[in-house]
Amino acid sequence: GAKKQGRNRFCWFDSSMEQELQTRNTIESGMRKGIPAGEFVPYYEQQIDLATGKLTGFEMLARWESPTQGLVSPEVFIPIAEETGMIGDLSLSIMRQAFEDGKSWDPSLSISINISPVQLLDPWLAQKIVKLLVETGFPPTRLEIEITESSLFENLSLAQSIVGSLKNQGIRISLDDFGTGYSSLAHLRALPFDRIKIDRSFVTSILENSESAAIVKAITGLGESLGMPITAEGIEDKAIENELRNIGCAKGQGWYYGRPLSMQQTRKLLAERNLLPEPVTPVSEDSA
Ligand code: C2E
Ligand code: MG
Ligand code: MG
Ligand code: MG
Repeated sequence: GAKKQGRNRFCWFDSSMEQELQTRNTIESGMRKGIPAGEFVPYYEQQIDLATGKLTGFEMLARWESPTQGLVSPEVFIPIAEETGMIGDLSLSIMRQAFEDGKSWDPSLSISINISPVQLLDPWLAQKIVKLLVETGFPPTRLEIEITESSLFENLSLAQSIVGSLKNQGIRISLDDFGTGYSSLAHLRALPFDRIKIDRSFVTSILENSESAAIVKAITGLGESLGMPITAEGIEDKAIENELRNIGCAKGQGWYYGRPLSMQQTRKLLAERNLLPEPVTPVSEDSA
């Protein structure tokens, strides 16, 4: 009857919520074990100078190499890390690995790191990043920090002061995923961005959708007049790359150039391109 059906429906709803909570708890406890076990690692996505085709560096993308789940996306674990307060330490630990990796690469190559809006509520963030740079010996001028517009909502003056400290060290700041969410041109003035990254939703559809093309052109022109070069993310084929080069985007990244690579895969790619200088082995006193 209707009563029974209603009751069943309620039960179904209830158990699916319960299941969701259970999945979340499983992920969270897996993370608490996985973080100290070193299961969270940096992967690297190539960034290309569109005019010359040269590799300029990588965006570091966090991955969880879970022994039970396989490779887990940051879209799954970053929100949980943010909710539970794990994000700060997790981010710093992956960043440290990236600086250690990047130190052995050609000095022309930069690393871009995503910073969560939650991290921009930590007044010590800049000091923590600078400390990591000093400890690892990775030059601040090779580091770029990516922040999204939503970072500006919660505590703008704190975000401004953190970004100011980072910029004083020679670290560059880029505005990530521009054009999505609560986009506002006022945000471009709120912080001294060095670069704008156009969200892949506009880039992927640029050839089929004239609005997307118009938006990419407008953002590129705006960036040019503001002295903020553009990186287009989500380039999946040659035709899109050509279009973005014609529009005047400075840099691009996306699966056309390859999927994000592990540290070992990145080293292999760099070795093939002579971008992995051999470490200088110190000459000992007696052999000299
Ligand atoms: P994002 O910063 O916008 O990074 C770009 C995302 O687009 C990456 O997904 C990348 O793998 C994907 N992508 C790149 N090229 C293409 C393409 O041609 N086609 C398609 N379909 N996708 C492409 P990923 O690695 O899953 O990262 C998702 C988001 O997770 C990132 O978006 C970033 O917001 C966040 N994230 C990743 N690593 C970290 C981290 O260490 N800390 C924080 N706070 N967030 C991170
Ligand atoms: Mg990013
Ligand atoms: Mg992005
Ligand atoms: Mg994006």
